[in-house]
Amino acid sequence: MNCQKAQVLMSAAVDCELTVKEEEGFLLHLSECKECKDEFEDAKKTKMIIKEKIVQFKAPQSLFNSIMELTSASSVER
Ligand SMILES: [Zn+2]
Repeated sequence: MNCQKAQVLMSAAVDCELTVKEEEGFLLHLSECKECKDEFEDAKKTKMIIKEKIVQFKAPQSLFNSIMELTSASSVER
């Protein structure tokens, strides 16, 4: 796996939506690539912070959706 592929899988990985095989390759890449590992850690933190804020302020679903779109800009289409 290269960085480009890892970037594509990044947001699905944060959501734990990778297949076993994808996750294997993704985690292997992270073990070899500090840049992607750091980005993955950041993405996970960002997602947690967003989740906390949503719970805290009970944001409307439309706002939640636009935040999720912003944070998964590098995502594959679902
Ligand atoms: Zn990488």
